[in-house]
Amino acid sequence: MDGQPGHIDQIKQTNIGAVYRLIDQYGPISRIELSKKAQLAPASITKIVRELVDTHLVMETEFLDLGFRGRPATGLKLDSESWHFLCVSIGLGNLILGLRDLSSKLIVEDVLPLPASNKKSFLDCITDEIDAFFGRYQSCLERLTAISITVNAIVDPTKGLIRNLPYYQVQELSIGEYLHRRTGLPVFLQHEITAWTIAESLYGAAKNCKNIIQIVIDENVGVGVIIAGQTLHAGNGSVMEIGHIQVELDGERCDCGNLGCLETVAGINHILSRAKQQLITVPDSLLNCEPLTVESFCQAVNKGDTLAIDIIRYIGVKIGHIVAIMVNLFNPEKILIGSPLNASQQILYPVINECIQRHALPAYSEQVKLVATEFNNSGTLSAVSSVKKALYDGSLLVNLMKG
Ligand SMILES: [Zn+2]
Repeated sequence: MDGQPGHIDQIKQTNIGAVYRLIDQYGPISRIELSKKAQLAPASITKIVRELVDTHLVMETEFLDLGFRGRPATGLKLDSESWHFLCVSIGLGNLILGLRDLSSKLIVEDVLPLPASNKKSFLDCITDEIDAFFGRYQSCLERLTAISITVNAIVDPTKGLIRNLPYYQVQELSIGEYLHRRTGLPVFLQHEITAWTIAESLYGAAKNCKNIIQIVIDENVGVGVIIAGQTLHAGNGSVMEIGHIQVELDGERCDCGNLGCLETVAGINHILSRAKQQLITVPDSLLNCEPLTVESFCQAVNKGDTLAIDIIRYIGVKIGHIVAIMVNLFNPEKILIGSPLNASQQILYPVINECIQRHALPAYSEQVKLVATEFNNSGTLSAVSSVKKALYDGSLLVNLMKG
């Protein structure tokens, strides 16, 4: 019997989260419709909605209920504008701070330099920038609900701990606990790619999918995996690793010390430097005409440039092999590609797809769909997902209702 009150609290929290999620996704929505979709009794819906309305997290609104002879009806929608949260994206050399309301709408975002060598400690640099940011935008600040941090580092999200971030020489840093003590706010910490994958699964290209793999091809090559609705982690690490799987036996030396890692083949910088090397033998390639960037590379692919197409096909094959293995391991519904190379997806995707069909179990490969991510990994967008997740599971809502 001891565990019962906790159990009831947990059910209550889950139900509040579920109702909030449905209002977010379908609002304005009537209480009757909400009761059907949530599979909760009308009396429970009335109670939960009253609490959400009293806390100003949900509001009533008149809307045209088309199913009810086109008459105006009373519906529910989120009341997001008076609640803000801070997004913090820690990059290599820069820090992006963004203020958003609970609907995720961006209020203001600043990109600030965050040099690796600084007289102040890493934590002091971050907290000083956050203080200055709040100082600058005090006039548009509403009630703060949370801080959400994303970083491309080995992190422990449950402990709010950055385990290893070599660029800033940071190890075992309890940034979550430190900021929580300083502000009293819940602090979320997540690896950037994992946060992005969660965003795609909650409200992006993989909405309503329980099993997804997201391949990120950027400066770094990475992967996010959600299976049975759960984010997979590599042991205590926050992200699974594909960038450092060997794909060329005697390939280029990688930053990790090994030879021929996938990242040395498909990382954007490596793609561009390979293209530059090969240009010498193909003087009439379109790649010669412009400053070589990922955008001009994709344009050359799309215009049918043979060299550019050969390079992107080669990348497609190497990525495809790894994806095929992952399809066999995880049997996902969707594979998302998040990359600036999506500008040439009509060339890249068929190559990856062919690899999957050729190398993965047909029963798995036949039903998997390869699609582009809905979002680009820009600004503080991926940091939104931790807050959405905590709203949808009810934990953050219960926190806000306590006041
Ligand atoms: Zn490597």
